[in-house]
Amino acid sequence: MRDYYEILGVNKGSSDDEIKKAYRKIAIKYHPDKNPDNKSAEEKFKEAAEAYSVLSDTNKRQRYDQFGHAGVNGAGGGQGFSNMDVNDIFSAFGDIFGDSDNIFGSMFGNQRGSRKRKGGSDLKISIPLSLEQMYKGGSKTVKIKRLERIPGESPKQCSSCGGSGQLKRVSQSFLGQVVNIVECNNCNGQGMIGGREKKSTEVTFDIPQGVSSEHYQVVQSMGNQGFNESDDGNLIVYFQEKEHPLFLRDGSDIYLSISIGYHQAVLGDKVKIPTINGEVNLTIPKGIKSGQVVRVKGKGMPDPRRRINGDQFVKINIITSDNKSKDFILLMEKMKEILGEDINCSKFE
Ligand SMILES: [Zn+2]
Repeated sequence: MRDYYEILGVNKGSSDDEIKKAYRKIAIKYHPDKNPDNKSAEEKFKEAAEAYSVLSDTNKRQRYDQFGHAGVNGAGGGQGFSNMDVNDIFSAFGDIFGDSDNIFGSMFGNQRGSRKRKGGSDLKISIPLSLEQMYKGGSKTVKIKRLERIPGESPKQCSSCGGSGQLKRVSQSFLGQVVNIVECNNCNGQGMIGGREKKSTEVTFDIPQGVSSEHYQVVQSMGNQGFNESDDGNLIVYFQEKEHPLFLRDGSDIYLSISIGYHQAVLGDKVKIPTINGEVNLTIPKGIKSGQVVRVKGKGMPDPRRRINGDQFVKINIITSDNKSKDFILLMEKMKEILGEDINCSKFE
């Protein structure tokens, strides 16, 4: 799949307006009316519509920037346009070739935010994941509790507020009568009552490879159901990184400390060290100093946006052996004889 920015010929930093203009240009150029029986024009038209549907929506664009196509497809809730009928795209457009920027702007995505929901509120859940799970990605199924419509039972107008969702409260103050408009607590401001109940349901969503606690996934229409299907809320899944017993993570890089003996530091060595994806051989260079850091390239976390892995950084500590064998003590005494007094001063850390 091509990069959405590339399809529209815009930069990652382009403004909403630039994206809209770029899309309009392409849509006009490849309009199937202008290119009858031209499959490749039709493909380009659809491709541009799909790119625009994502980049014109702040949330989707953000997800795309973070995760690429994986962030806006499948359980993430993007729509593929390649299988869509051209006429359906047109009906969604309204009169795109007229001057109405409003219709043009509202064709995708934005309807949700601006519409007043009747009950279909978003649900938020937090999923604790180990670093290993975040490394591998995959999908997860969890049980959630949400409001669902009861088949065959219609909601009724709220009798307290008469369907407006608001109540007038009149109170007396030293200024005289004060009228406050408050949300109706009988229907929680929705104006309707009944027709829905709390139910347990299972939901499956993607965990893109390399996610972190800064990422989340939106599962379309899996939040509380509204009184109508079009009012269903979304489920927002926050990923939460569990502390790892060994590894520290910073973005897509992993940090680990190991301790080696003086002899290994002086002579160099090959040792096995753990990474997030199994053991690897690490070459300790001859003469390494305590506190020095060795980089193991590509052994960090996958970067969900760039599709390459970060690195693992290994801090080398040199430890004093507590070996009590006679041979060892003799050897150390010999060493002291050779090296003598060997100190260096530096500032206290
Ligand atoms: Zn009410």
